[in-house]
Amino acid sequence: MKVAKFGGSSVATAEQIKKVCDIVLSDPQRKFVVVSAPGKRYKEDIKVTDLLIDCAQKYLAYGSAEKELGLIIERYSEITKGLGLSEEIVNTIEADLRQRLAMDTSDHDSFLDTLKAAGEDNCAKLIAHYLNSKGVEAHYVDPKEAGLLLSCEYGNAQVLPESYKNLEKLRERSGIIIFPGFFGCTPEGTIVTFPRGGSDITGSILAAAVKADVYENFTDVDSVFVANPNIIPNPKPISLLTYKEMRELSYAGFSVLQSEALAPVYHAGIPVHIMNTNNPEAPGTMIVPDKENVHLSRKNGKTVSGIACDNGFCSIYVSKYLMNREIGFGRKLLHILEDEGLSYEHIPSGIDNVSVILKENQLDAQKEARVISRIKNELCVDDIAIERNLALIIIVGEGMRNTIGMAAKATGAIARAGVNLEMINQGSSEISMMFGVKDVDAEKAVKALYKEFFEE
Ligand code: ASP
Repeated sequence: MKVAKFGGSSVATAEQIKKVCDIVLSDPQRKFVVVSAPGKRYKEDIKVTDLLIDCAQKYLAYGSAEKELGLIIERYSEITKGLGLSEEIVNTIEADLRQRLAMDTSDHDSFLDTLKAAGEDNCAKLIAHYLNSKGVEAHYVDPKEAGLLLSCEYGNAQVLPESYKNLEKLRERSGIIIFPGFFGCTPEGTIVTFPRGGSDITGSILAAAVKADVYENFTDVDSVFVANPNIIPNPKPISLLTYKEMRELSYAGFSVLQSEALAPVYHAGIPVHIMNTNNPEAPGTMIVPDKENVHLSRKNGKTVSGIACDNGFCSIYVSKYLMNREIGFGRKLLHILEDEGLSYEHIPSGIDNVSVILKENQLDAQKEARVISRIKNELCVDDIAIERNLALIIIVGEGMRNTIGMAAKATGAIARAGVNLEMINQGSSEISMMFGVKDVDAEKAVKALYKEFFEE
């Protein structure tokens, strides 16, 4: 049995929804379908979720948002017409939106989440209706009624453990289940949403709960690529990845799947299949728990699975003579960061020095001055410097663990490209290696690494 999740671009128009339904009906194992809200129809278009946010904000500010509401209704009306369904449905959707707007607005966050959830909720109802109109037994399921219980953190909710038992019962229902992504409700019954892109999370939770054989994630690309197509034209596709590799890659700039989304299926050991709604025949990318599978299938002996790159990092460099002898130095340093509410990404270290790498948008000038002065005064360091505008490039591959010379190959390629390396760090799992460079040099370094590992 499969859970198939379709993203915003897959349900953006009537044509796309027809493709979704064809895909669902082409495989009787696709019993559970999770849908996003209609996304962009073209590059400059606005997602329904963003239209809903705009509508909610205007309503909060002015007590009315007729123009914004009109734009949302127009989107659904276009889809309804394209699917040949009756106008009646658009009236129902409009009534639903007006009912949400009429709720108590005293808690702005709760109001906003209730509006945001309308995108996927109405899309799921519409698709169930369309399938029914074609004589298919399909049922819209309300996440609240099904017991998808979430923590009360608006826009950032987390699943509560009892949800899995509740959702498992959906296995007994007949027909195809159409489940809206992105939201659930608190134990008190209030609607709350996941972070943006959160329909992936819903799909993953549902797949784990109903013990699916595979979680299919339909999007608008043929597969995950070994490098960012905006940097490398036509990069090679990845057919198989392990969860760990995907996690390392998505952490640094791979944005195919919301990385938090993988947790439920990861713990349940369920493979994820990333596929393209516009080209369902393409093999896609499988994300699997078992690394042996990956080694066997990589006939060409590839050790690197992918290259990721992200910028916007900074490094706080600290040095102190005999640092290695000072018990508790690292703890005190990290404690200052914790105290200041800063999360860090890496800590490459030497005998008498250590760098802490952070996302630089966490540090405004004021905070930077305070952190620097606290480290200086509380830890009596010899030297402290902050370097901004860094990019981190990560090469990832399960096969790297047992291969000699990976660092030499990578650094050689970066050196030949004339890029200065600011730092190197090998993850303890040995399946990733991180290189810090100035962000202006990042593309050059990625191109050099791609050439080294994937072209020659
Ligand atoms: N519609 C929501 C968003 O745009 C959730 C999703 O598509 O996954 O973020």
